[in-house]
Amino acid sequence: MIGFIGLGNMGGPMAANLAMAGHEVLGFDVTAAAVDRAAAAGVSAARSIEEAAAEADIVVTMLPSGSHLVSVYETLVAVARPDALLIDCSTVDVASCVRAHEMARANGLASIDAPVSGGVSGAAAATLTFMVGGDEAAVERARPALEAMGRRVVHCGVAGAGQAAKTCNNMVLGISMIALAEAFTLGERLNLSHQALFDVLSTSSGQCWALVNHCPVPGPVPASAANHGFRPGFAAALMLKDLRLARDAADAAGVDIPLGRQAAGLYEQFNALDEEGLDYAAIIKLVRERSGM
Ligand code: NAD
Repeated sequence: MIGFIGLGNMGGPMAANLAMAGHEVLGFDVTAAAVDRAAAAGVSAARSIEEAAAEADIVVTMLPSGSHLVSVYETLVAVARPDALLIDCSTVDVASCVRAHEMARANGLASIDAPVSGGVSGAAAATLTFMVGGDEAAVERARPALEAMGRRVVHCGVAGAGQAAKTCNNMVLGISMIALAEAFTLGERLNLSHQALFDVLSTSSGQCWALVNHCPVPGPVPASAANHGFRPGFAAALMLKDLRLARDAADAAGVDIPLGRQAAGLYEQFNALDEEGLDYAAIIKLVRERSGM
């Protein structure tokens, strides 16, 4: 049996895919609506962390931040079965990640960090990439469950290595989205149609994952948030969280990341204005506004 804690935009479909692969999944979320949605997709509803974990040989967490993770682990490590494996898929700071591993180890529990890339569409389609930190035996034990939720499992190294890789990846994603927002805004001013610019970028050296999956203008990529009022998707607040993680990690490591720093600053500005919790692709609104458009 698999316990699943955090059934939000990502966790909901991930838990549903585990259930679809034939696992018995007991899911818990503090938001009742999230539990109801997961239940409609084949996940059994638990009313607490204790209930989700008590019988589980694997417990997956998919939570907003490091403080949520540490707070859930305070309960989880005390109630999990002694032979349980804990898999954290949230994107969190390396310090909270390492702390969660230590809490597990202190209670004799195996644990891995396994943050993901691929977004809500990847979670729904079970095509996520997992970047994993932890010892080999724990990673191999987790592999069948991870493969039911994703397409690739990259073992990055010891505990915390998955989060380190995720931090680097999402810094690239944030910078790419801002580059696209600037290119499409400039294109608008230069009288280029969105479709023409997309057709060129997507077949030229400007091609990138953010463009073909999360294009920030409506039209070329039907599933992108730009076609749906910028409803997330991947919320701009979460992108800001990730860019701050990159900035903090770079500061701690003494690495100069001018573009990462600038990207964090622009998402900070956007989030201060955004009252609707829009998708990270909505950063194009800020670029347009700063350009008087
Ligand atoms: P979300 O806010 O939709 O989901 C998080 C869920 O955790 C919410 O339903 C919330 O109610 C629940 N939660 C919070 N505290 C809890 C607790 N104590 N016990 C049980 N449930 C609790 O966020 P999301 O988009 O699903 O993202 C989850 C994680 O995945 C984040 O760390 C995010 O950075 C990362 N991530 C998101 C995406 C994306 O595209 N959305 C992509 C990759 C990684």
